[in-house]
Amino acid sequence: MGRTLIPDARSPLPVMTDPLRVAVVGAGPAGFYACEHLLAEAPGAVEVSLIDRLPTPFGLVRSGVAPDHQSIKGVTRVYDRIAADPRVTFHGNVEHGRDLRHDDLLAYFHAVIYCVGCRSFRHLGIPGEALPGRASAGDFVGWYNAHPDQRTRRFDLSGERAVVVGVGNVALDVARMLLTPAEVLATTDMADHALAALAQSNIREVTLLGLRGPAQVAFTLPELKEFAARDDIDIVIDPQDMKEDATLGPDASRGREQVVALLNELAVRPERGCDRRLVIRFMVSPVAFTGDDRVREVEVAHTELQHNADGVVVARPTGSREMLPADLVLTAIGYRGSALPGVPFDPIRGVIPNDRGRVIDPVSGKARPREYVAGWIKRGPSGVIGTNKPDAYETVDALLHDMQVHPPDPVLGGDVFARLLQERCGDVVSYAGWERINAAEIARGESAGRPRDKFSDIDDMIEVAEA
Ligand SMILES: Cc1cc2nc3c(=O)[nH]c(=O)nc-3n(C[C@H](O)[C@H](O)[C@H](O)COP(=O)(O)OP(=O)(O)OC[C@H]3O[C@@H](n4cnc5c(N)ncnc54)[C@H](O)[C@@H]3O)c2cc1C
Repeated sequence: MGRTLIPDARSPLPVMTDPLRVAVVGAGPAGFYACEHLLAEAPGAVEVSLIDRLPTPFGLVRSGVAPDHQSIKGVTRVYDRIAADPRVTFHGNVEHGRDLRHDDLLAYFHAVIYCVGCRSFRHLGIPGEALPGRASAGDFVGWYNAHPDQRTRRFDLSGERAVVVGVGNVALDVARMLLTPAEVLATTDMADHALAALAQSNIREVTLLGLRGPAQVAFTLPELKEFAARDDIDIVIDPQDMKEDATLGPDASRGREQVVALLNELAVRPERGCDRRLVIRFMVSPVAFTGDDRVREVEVAHTELQHNADGVVVARPTGSREMLPADLVLTAIGYRGSALPGVPFDPIRGVIPNDRGRVIDPVSGKARPREYVAGWIKRGPSGVIGTNKPDAYETVDALLHDMQVHPPDPVLGGDVFARLLQERCGDVVSYAGWERINAAEIARGESAGRPRDKFSDIDDMIEVAEA
């Protein structure tokens, strides 16, 4: 039997009266905001299954946001309220591609929204990238944030100098973690294995490398201010680099102007003899990582800035090069989406191709019925947590519009889906199960004065969830 439709006096479109069943794949910010808008706007009954490959929700709010930025993680209180709605069911430890495919979901749900974020990292594609001692900043972030995927990673912190390729907020986050004394990190929810390793770390200098000039950095003012306010870290910027280019362009935001102004101040601030240093280099492009058994140096090409035909500031090599010593290299040049089996994927942009949230079939160029996308996997890895809210709302608006214009065929019920999950996945973690993990982590952290002591092993999480 199809969904029952009755006319709505306020709208020419019919109102859906049967529960609209939607699967939201990925319980990060985009997934939660999609749930929120479905609950608020569906013109009738709605049931949402929120699926995540991990037993824990919140995506990068848990595994990306830096451990010393606890207040930002307070946004999860909003997500808790959304999950508490009886129309939402959380299925943790269920992976699209491993346990379920898109055709399974389309058999059980009227529509699916993919909110899986960006799991991979961009590479430079230069010689020496595979040398030990070179890693993606995203792997380092996952490691210090107790993500199960990175829990067994090891980073050699025995040398004094780290180079971070990139000048965005992720680059500043990893630099801050490398330069912050262990006793300060020990008051955060950083993973135990990372705390132990960083307590032994000899890293005292981190150099950030920016391809273009100070006016083109991607980091934002509050993050730079936080570094500038540290009295245990010297910030070193060559004043010459500041002269080379401060081309802000006529449409520069006030935020950008303030970042450049602060960089100018820092470039002339005398060094204070701190034993930790953050060096910010501009107009340098890594061309190779060199070393024998491990990375020892980064070869960089100097660049100069020009405007291209569209007026965009681009970096062109000047022909001169330099070798920078490095005991650890982290590349913070962006996250990247991964393909989900059976779901279209744009390998160039690393996103699911879409038109305002409707998944597009790359062959026909038409929208695929009942499939939608939101968050980083929709628009690429940019924007803060809040950016995902209007993004997910736009997707849900498209979905609800389509469901009213083309009422979907009937689908199998929620009980049958629960049985499928039991057969396929074994240990599915409910929201109550996550709340037990949450409580256990908070209790473990309490005695050490930490906000929580995270589990990083999925088996440990499941044991607690099922206790
Ligand atoms: C290092 C770092 C620090 C950041 N710090 C801040 C900050 O301080 N403040 C701020 O506002 N923003 C910050 N951001 C940005 C913010 O985290 C993102 O905007 C936001 O998390 C993106 O949300 P999302 O839901 O699209 O993806 P994600 O948060 O990545 O969520 C995706 C979810 O999908 C799940 N998933 C993936 N694949 C599958 C699958 N196959 N099946 C089922 N589930 C799957 C994942 O487990 C995850 O839970 C930071 C980002 C990074 C990388």
